[in-house]
Amino acid sequence: MAVASDVEAGMNGETMTLVRANLHRVDVDARQMLFHVPSSGLFELDGASREVLALLDCHEHLSSATLHEHLAARYGRDALQEAVGELRALDIIATSGHEARLNPQPRPVRNFPLTTVVLNVNTGCNLSCTYCYKADLTTPARGRKMASATAIAAIEMLLRESPGQPRYNVVFFGGEPLSNMDLIRDVVAYCEPRFAALGAEVDFTLTTNATLLTEALVDWFNAHRFGLTVSMDGPKPLHDRNRLTVGGQGSYDVVRRKVEMLLARYTARPVGCRVTLTRGVTDVEQIFEHLHGELGFHEVGFGPVTSGDIASFNLPPDELAEVFAGLKRLGRRYLEHALRGRKFGFGNMHQLLTDMHEGNKKLLPCGAGVALLAVDHEGGLNLCHRFTGSNMPRFGNVADGIDRPRLAAFIEQRLDRSDTGCQTCRIRNICSGGCYHESYAKYGDAAHPSYHYCDLLRDWVDFGIDVYARISAAAPGFFAAQLTPRRRA
Ligand code: SF4
Ligand code: SF4
Repeated sequence: MAVASDVEAGMNGETMTLVRANLHRVDVDARQMLFHVPSSGLFELDGASREVLALLDCHEHLSSATLHEHLAARYGRDALQEAVGELRALDIIATSGHEARLNPQPRPVRNFPLTTVVLNVNTGCNLSCTYCYKADLTTPARGRKMASATAIAAIEMLLRESPGQPRYNVVFFGGEPLSNMDLIRDVVAYCEPRFAALGAEVDFTLTTNATLLTEALVDWFNAHRFGLTVSMDGPKPLHDRNRLTVGGQGSYDVVRRKVEMLLARYTARPVGCRVTLTRGVTDVEQIFEHLHGELGFHEVGFGPVTSGDIASFNLPPDELAEVFAGLKRLGRRYLEHALRGRKFGFGNMHQLLTDMHEGNKKLLPCGAGVALLAVDHEGGLNLCHRFTGSNMPRFGNVADGIDRPRLAAFIEQRLDRSDTGCQTCRIRNICSGGCYHESYAKYGDAAHPSYHYCDLLRDWVDFGIDVYARISAAAPGFFAAQLTPRRRA
């Protein structure tokens, strides 16, 4: 009888095992959510699937006969067949005829679909933030500016290496990028007709400390629809702890004045703020209230420093835990707003929910080295802006193009998760081993996964699952209205 039903169910009397590394269950009130690790997708488990998994929790190998014995009367064969089939298709269940896969087989990397170049337009900065991680950072007088010819060669390198993309991004970085406005104007004047002639869009972005902004500059950025982000660390006592002028004075007063002018005047796109959290700076709610509630930044994102070059600025474990607790409190406010159909400008939560909503499976932590390269003032190609000026060898230059064998070897090394702690980690396709630069700073090896706060990250993703599930149950329209437009922007 059991065998007959097994054949009907398409299971042929096989035994099943649970592939624990591919699933993660989170209870949200009475519902049980399945976080599908291979795709980072989220599903609500129905009764049959839930019980199949519960049974597999208790049996390392479960025969289909036992499964039917326990559950067929309650759910019927068809529902059981469907549940098992779906779980098997998701690689949540393995059978003797179907081996589940944890990670894709690493393949040779041949293509670099570059869409973004980051131009390090000046190693000099007019501020002297005590925690600044930039290896090549110096004062404005000694800053090495990129020449316009190098920047234009970088644009041509982008087009040569990755032709035919519908949209390209040019990011101006520093030091302080506004200290080389001549280059920025030259690049924009070159790119707009160049990309238009190719039928491609070009998008310009920059992150600035705001101190050099003027009304005329803001109007110019408006005309060219720049995406602008300001680096600011919160209310005056917090901001002025680290963000100092070269003379050692706090920069808050001038930054605030400039930000007020910018936010009143800039209409092309929403302006974001990036906060750097260092040792002793953990009150993310207070900072958020100031920057979002009082100053009016559209979105505020937090970057905790855990492995900067200057160890004394790194958040110690207890402070990092405090930061994550604060981020979760902000996340609950995000949820309250979302349930009313409203956006709440908390960037970290927004990004996590976007990844889940889109089922973003990330085999690499970010686009560095594949979709993005950073160009230093000499025209050398680096994984991203944080590597310019570092001792890490370059991956080519703007004249000769990408050193493909070297870059491919690096990316392949990072894609191969075998023998790493990430191989079975439940957030391996969201974290993907973490930021290359953090690994480089911590282990001297950008290809090494950065393991230093894995538990906190896993807890943060569980929190995101809970928030996502609550929004999808009570306000499902929120995602289409609030997440998708952001991606298009
Ligand atoms: S670095 Fe840690 S949290 Fe990230 S994927 Fe690897 S094991 Fe998981
Ligand atoms: S390597 Fe790190 S700093 Fe560089 S782009 Fe990736 S996540 Fe950002």
